[in-house]
Parts: sequence; C-alpha cells; structure tokens
Amino acid sequence: MAEALSDLSYYRATAGKQGFSPLAEQLDAAICVIGGGFAGLSTAISLMERGERNVVLLEADTIGHGASGRNGGFVFGGYSLGERSLLASAGADAGAQLYRLTLDAVELIRRRIERYGIACEASNAGIYLANWFDDKSILDQQRDFMRQQLGVEWSQLGREQFAAISRSERYFGALYEENAFHFHPLKYAQGLAAALVAGGVRVHEHSRALKIAADGAGWHIATTGGSVRAGQVVVCCGGYIERLYPRLAGAILPIATYVMVTEPLGERLPAAMTTQAAIYDTRFAFDYYRPLADTRLLWGGRISIRERGASDVARLLYQDMLKVYPQLEGARVDYAWSGMMSYGRHKMPQLGRLPEGIWYGMGFGGHGVAPTTLSGEVLARAILGDGADLARFAQWGLPTTGGPAGLLAAQLSYWYYELRDWMRQ
Ligand SMILES: Cc1cc2nc3c(=O)[nH]c(=O)nc-3n(C[C@H](O)[C@H](O)[C@H](O)COP(=O)(O)OP(=O)(O)OC[C@H]3O[C@@H](n4cnc5c(N)ncnc54)[C@H](O)[C@@H]3O)c2cc1C
Repeated sequence: MAEALSDLSYYRATAGKQGFSPLAEQLDAAICVIGGGFAGLSTAISLMERGERNVVLLEADTIGHGASGRNGGFVFGGYSLGERSLLASAGADAGAQLYRLTLDAVELIRRRIERYGIACEASNAGIYLANWFDDKSILDQQRDFMRQQLGVEWSQLGREQFAAISRSERYFGALYEENAFHFHPLKYAQGLAAALVAGGVRVHEHSRALKIAADGAGWHIATTGGSVRAGQVVVCCGGYIERLYPRLAGAILPIATYVMVTEPLGERLPAAMTTQAAIYDTRFAFDYYRPLADTRLLWGGRISIRERGASDVARLLYQDMLKVYPQLEGARVDYAWSGMMSYGRHKMPQLGRLPEGIWYGMGFGGHGVAPTTLSGEVLARAILGDGADLARFAQWGLPTTGGPAGLLAAQLSYWYYELRDWMRQ
C-alpha cells in the first residue's frame, strides 16, 4: 500500500517537460481563448485548422493542469448526461444526432493523434461497461437502447466470458464498446499545444486571466503579467474557473474525483486482468480503470465536493480496487491525485455566447474528452459564422447551480445514489 505520497500525478511524472513563456506584454489577436484544457485547446485547434491562426491561448498554470491532464484517459462516445436522459430531453432524433457528434469527436481525436504525430500511448483495445449488479436486464436494456435508438452496436459478454477477461468474480457480464480507446491525456494535451504553436497560435502558460472587460467592439483581457486585446474571447476554464466571470462560474459545480496508479505489477497484472481494454461499471459512482503499458494499473473513482491529498486518495481507491481484485492485495500505490470536473445542473456541456458577446465551453463533467473536442469544433464554426451546431446545445443553457448550497445538495444526492447502489447489489 501507499506510504506518504506526493501530489505529483503519474501523468505529470511521465510526460515530457513543455514550457511556454508567461505573457509579459500587450498583445492583439482576433481571438483569445482562456484555459489550456481540452476545451480551450480544441477550440484553438479547430480555429487553426479552419485557417484562423491569429489566436492567443492563455493558461493560468501549465497546459493540461486541470481535469484534462489528470483524467482516466477513457475516450468514448456520450456525455455526462446518460443516453436515455439525453434523448428524453432533446427528443429522439436530435438526441441521436448529438450522440453521433461525440462518436465523430472520438474519430477526430484519433485523426489528430495521427496528423500531429502525438505520442500519447493510445491503446485501441476498446472499453468495457461491466455490470456491478446481478441483474442481466441492465445490460440487455442498454445494449438494445444503443442499437435501436442510436444505431450503435455494443457486444455483450456473459458472466463467465467476462470473468475470463477481467479475472474478477465481482461482475455480472459486460458490454464492449469496440471503437473506444484510452490514452495518456496529458501527453495528448501537450501534443495539441505543440501543434498549435507550430501552426502559429500563441500559447502562454502561467498567464491567468484576471479580468475580462469590454473594449470597443472587442475585449480586453488582463493577465498576471500582461494583457490581450481581442475581437472575440472564449472562456474554457472548467472546474478551475474560480471567480473569473461570475455569470459563468455560477452555472457550474466544481466536483472532485480521484485517481491512483499502482507500482508496475509484472505478472500480477494478467492475474488480475488479461485485457488491454479499459473498464468501468454500471453504478452511479463507478470505478474506472485501465492497464498501462508498463504493467501498472490506473484506478479511478468516487465523486466528492472536495479534493483530497494523495495519501487519502490512495487509501480510498486501494480499498475499492481490492473489492474487485483481491488478488492485488499488497500492491504498492505509487501515485494518487484529485481533479476537478465542472458540472452544469443538467449535466450537458454548456456551449454558447453570453448576450454581451463572451463565448464559453464548459460543464463537461466526468465524461469530457470527446465532448470537449466536439465543443471546439462547434465553437470554432460558430465564431467563424456558422452557428448551426451550436444551436443544438442552446436548450441546456446556464441555470445557476446555487453556490455552496448547490454543492451540498450535490454531495447529498451522491450519497443517496451510492446508498441506492449499495442496497441494490
Ligand atoms: C480525475 C478525472 C477523471 C476523468 N476521467 C475521464 C475519462 O476517463 N474520460 C472522459 O471522457 N472524461 C474524464 N474526465 C472528465 C474530463 O477530463 C473533463 O470533462 C475535461 O477534461 C474538461 O476539460 P476542460 O478544458 O473543460 O477543463 P480543464 O481540463 O479543467 O481545463 C481548464 C483549464 O483552465 C485553466 N484556467 C482556469 N482559470 C483560468 C484563468 N482565469 N486564466 C487562464 N486559465 C485558467 C485551468 O488551469 C485549466 O488548465 C475526468 C475528470 C477528472 C477530474
């Protein structure tokens, strides 16, 4: 098990060093993107790929500092709002089209990895949704729904068949999403930033935007060391937005989730799972985990309103891991960390433009790798004059999340769902 751990993530420890100078002057640009996570990077790269290179991207810390450089690395279709709820709120056709956009985004990520030569350990082994409950109808219904409503084929594995792959007695079968993959998200984020700079986009780290103010027909963005005058501004600050723009900050809840990475397990890893695929399960607060190339196991889970220190995270997740893989008892935990997600009240991404003209892309929750990529496409098209796809997201808007009371309510509902799952198992 873990002794005192540093808060350094496995991703940070294994990604290369990348350094973009802090902004220390006044710049002019057509577009200023605030936030160097996947939402900001994707917006900038979608603009660049459409020929708009007069873009400045500001990151308060380093590229991928937020959720994008800390996540589970699952790249799959869908949103934080589940498929059924999506179709219920958008309607069957519009919902199916929105789901399809996320599958397109998975393919776009693959193409960008290829096109920009990003070495990010992409593993094309797919992703399993494992059934935590002894109730086959959960998988049957999900498989049928995906097939009939979304035209997506997830293959189904029975209990024995999946136990041979997962080497765990815990599950009751699984569904397999073949086109999904997993990767090293921080290396991917850094690769996008390098591609941006190679394409002429200006990227500045350690350049927190402090204030956004109207400036004639455009915007003035003051940073810690300089400023940007831009015709358009796009805010993509996720769960790390703090007080930058109250109208936007008040529409998301910053929610934490945790990840740990074991020591290299050698022959113990195939004793725990024989697949290279990633796995998550059917609970509300599910485990999500995947094998890494050097035989470590990356394990994520839990949702909370607060970040925790590495040793606490390791202790909690190690116990979770043993519930599924008792054969890994004694495995050392080498890394553990927290990350903040941003949730809108409706759990759908919040993409749009405020009446005063500020663009925003946020609220991707715990299912954001593909949606942030599609958000970049949608926002770039809208900024360049084609708002058709952006209009598809208009219905979800920016309802207030209620500040501290909203956070408390989120924690209570998490406990409620956790309890419900516990009673069901
Ligand atoms: C632990 C964890 C596991 C997850 N696992 C998965 C997964 O496996 N698959 C999946 O699809 N999704 C996953 N998610 C969700 C996914 O990572 C996020 O939805 C997505 O990365 C959000 O991207 P973002 O750009 O909106 O936010 P972030 O990545 O958080 O980026 C926001 C950036 O804005 C910067 N910033 C904030 N304020 C300012 C300012 N004033 N000026 C300049 N910069 C600023 C921050 O420093 C940060 O870098 C996970 C999330 C977490 C936390």
